[in-house]
Amino acid sequence: MISKKMEGFVKNSSAIRAMFEEGQKMAAVYGKENVYDFSLGNPNVPAPPAVNESMISILRSDPAVMVHGYMNNAGYEDVRTAIAENLNERFGMHYDAECLIMTVGAAGGMNVIMKTLLNPGDEAVTFSPYFGEYRSYVGNYDGVLVESPVDGVTFQPDPDALAERITDRTRVLIINSPNNPTGVVYTEESIRAVAAVLEKKQQEFGHEIYIFSDEPYRELVYGDTAVPYIPKFYRNTIVGYSYSKSLSLPGERIGYVAMSRDIDDYENVYSAAKTANRILGFVNAPSLQQRAIAGCLGEKTDMGYYDRNRRTLYDALTADGFTCVHPDGAFYLWMKTPEPDEKAFCARAKEKRILVVGGSSFGCSGFVRIAYCVAYETITGSLPGFAELAREYGLC
Ligand code: PLP
Repeated sequence: MISKKMEGFVKNSSAIRAMFEEGQKMAAVYGKENVYDFSLGNPNVPAPPAVNESMISILRSDPAVMVHGYMNNAGYEDVRTAIAENLNERFGMHYDAECLIMTVGAAGGMNVIMKTLLNPGDEAVTFSPYFGEYRSYVGNYDGVLVESPVDGVTFQPDPDALAERITDRTRVLIINSPNNPTGVVYTEESIRAVAAVLEKKQQEFGHEIYIFSDEPYRELVYGDTAVPYIPKFYRNTIVGYSYSKSLSLPGERIGYVAMSRDIDDYENVYSAAKTANRILGFVNAPSLQQRAIAGCLGEKTDMGYYDRNRRTLYDALTADGFTCVHPDGAFYLWMKTPEPDEKAFCARAKEKRILVVGGSSFGCSGFVRIAYCVAYETITGSLPGFAELAREYGLC
């Protein structure tokens, strides 16, 4: 018999994963090239060659017993120092090794911080739409996820709505920009407005409210879009980063959390987060991956690849008459469904062998998320099906 709590998690298990599995079944029937699977944020750009070479050279040069060994629960000190220096240079921070903890991806980092901060019944607020797994990551520690709607046109945070949702139980605001699922990058103006709300609420309630900035898409932006570094605008910020998307390493499970020594209760928060990393069973982030990424901090993914997909898809779908949010970052297109019932739309898209994920999975019905981190041929192959859908709905 499984626990009551797990029963709930299983019941609400990820629709994204379900759709991905459905896509694999369909591929077996129709052939992979005839199924247009936009369900999962799995990068289709290979990891930069330097990353693979770095792993090989570490394995060749290091007496393997060292690279495969345990280390400090926070991760290798020289790796944390290298990342801290890189962040200081890029964002004018004053991090050192004791500000960083290497984590098992962004998901690992967020679980570490939620375990560190939340008592049962405490609230974690997030802007909706949001990455659906947040519900589980907060629920794991018996926290309550509170959704704060964004502006319905720009999909930027709405500071007034946020102010209404902060209570005495609010411990943390989870921000994700560039955003999954909308592709929107929160502007400096938005971040300043959010920071002002939190400053005021900290005063009002007499305790700290942290921001957890979930940034797996920080490097994935188009044109000259700037992604504000939130600790520069709000002192009590903890950043969660991951190399899953920026270096196409989602299966390798490597990322970090970074907190300045200036955050309230730094000593306790840092030490508790290190302990959380251990007792959640991660123990430490994968050792080979720590070493590999430390040698590749300047490496970048091929944004030209995603950009071509983005332009082709956005231009074609908007020309068909669909309403889409113009994405400035990440690799997701957020599209309004032409009928209010998004499930019905997803089913009709599936008839054209197009797999997209309904907005309810992200706390926002009436939309679908199209993950365009796929082969270019998947984009072009899907366009006739999208055009047929548009005609059937009378959009063109
Ligand atoms: N946060 C967001 C917003 C994501 O989109 C994802 C993955 O898609 C994650 C966290 C988890 O990332 P990771 O694979 O690094 O754990």
